[in-house]
Amino acid sequence: MKAKHLIPIAALVVVLAALWLAGPFGEKGSSIILISVDTLRPDHLGCYGYDRKTSPSVDAFAGESMLFSRCYAQAPTTRPSCGTILSGYYPHELKIFDNSDNLSPPVTTVAERLREAGYRTIGVVSNFVLREGGGFEQGFDYYDDEMDDLELVRGIPERIAEKTTETAISLLRLHHRSRFFLWVHYQDPHGPYTPRPPFDTMFAVGSNGDRELPVNDTVSGMGGIPSYQDLDGIRSYNHYVARYDGEIRYFDEHFGRLVAELKALDLYDNSLIIFTADHGEGMGEHDYYFAHGEYVYNSLVHVPLVIRRGREEAGLREDFAQLADIVPTILGAARIKADETLHGSDLLDGSPGNHPVFSEMPGKYSIIEEGLKLVHHTEANEYFLFDIGTDPDEKINLLDDAAYAGRLNSMAAALVEHLRQDVLGDRVRRDRQRLTREEKEKLKALGYVQ
Ligand SMILES: [Zn+2]
Repeated sequence: MKAKHLIPIAALVVVLAALWLAGPFGEKGSSIILISVDTLRPDHLGCYGYDRKTSPSVDAFAGESMLFSRCYAQAPTTRPSCGTILSGYYPHELKIFDNSDNLSPPVTTVAERLREAGYRTIGVVSNFVLREGGGFEQGFDYYDDEMDDLELVRGIPERIAEKTTETAISLLRLHHRSRFFLWVHYQDPHGPYTPRPPFDTMFAVGSNGDRELPVNDTVSGMGGIPSYQDLDGIRSYNHYVARYDGEIRYFDEHFGRLVAELKALDLYDNSLIIFTADHGEGMGEHDYYFAHGEYVYNSLVHVPLVIRRGREEAGLREDFAQLADIVPTILGAARIKADETLHGSDLLDGSPGNHPVFSEMPGKYSIIEEGLKLVHHTEANEYFLFDIGTDPDEKINLLDDAAYAGRLNSMAAALVEHLRQDVLGDRVRRDRQRLTREEKEKLKALGYVQ
């Protein structure tokens, strides 16, 4: 009798173990999908209140997920920001200050942590600055950086959303039976804004609020259209905004295909899915147009963040979040102990964020604390204090308002302390990726020199 009962009990143990391994999300066995989009402003997405229909697929996804209305990037540039997304450390600690600085091998990335824990790790990137050799491939079993499209105007290799999605889908089909971590980085909203038909004319240019802008001689967006954005001498402000929106709508079409595949493979309700952007884009705020990387204002560092953990949680989160929270959130979901030196928080552990949020680039730094944002431009030693709850476009400088004097001093001190702190120290040194001879010749032939 006893022996007979052993079989069903053993079978039950096997079934329970299989359930534990197969999920649900948050338990060993659930896969993790991180989707980042280059240069995507949240306020140009329907789910963040935009009045143009740029994002039906993202909106549908967000409607079934947790939407963070106040998430900020640590930097307004791809490499520093993606360094934080993948590692959880700040750009000054990573020694990544621009798009040539590498993610250094001594830094432990989330892909490395997940691979150690038995995840198959897959990266699909479509921005040239994330190509293999820059260190962003660390920890990935597969890192697909095939880019055979060329950006118009600049002639830099990229991969458009249709192909990025095809690659991601084929890798999903190949590996979905394993526990995996997939990072997909889309490039489309990045300038020059050249969406394919019919997206190029999908949004009306209109005359409301339109104005002529000068075209700059350089790639800077200060006071005019950056040279790399110049499309056939077009100077209309509205024209560029309509085409930026067309790029988002084009990306969204293919994001919808990726979500459909996640559903078809039964991953949608059983995985952790994180959707975000590396930074935003200037749309004229502070007289800064159609570019990024030159300020830490909200137009460049406010980013979308939408997290889906099966059907577990949905709705609006209004606490402050930052891209440095992504690694602790992923590790929390995977039940891997986070390194104590990480700065961010697990956004799914039940407690609201609301910790100080820092953004940085050489010479420009900011801290957000309890709805106030202090910006420091170190070269001119200028400070700006904004109430971003009532003034999200940062138009009213409260620096001389005596009511804020106490907060101002404490935030300025916290910003100094933030920059002084370097948990990675000398282990990580600045290291730059050089173009290979082949890349140089290719780009030179196209009239572009990095
Ligand atoms: Zn970027």
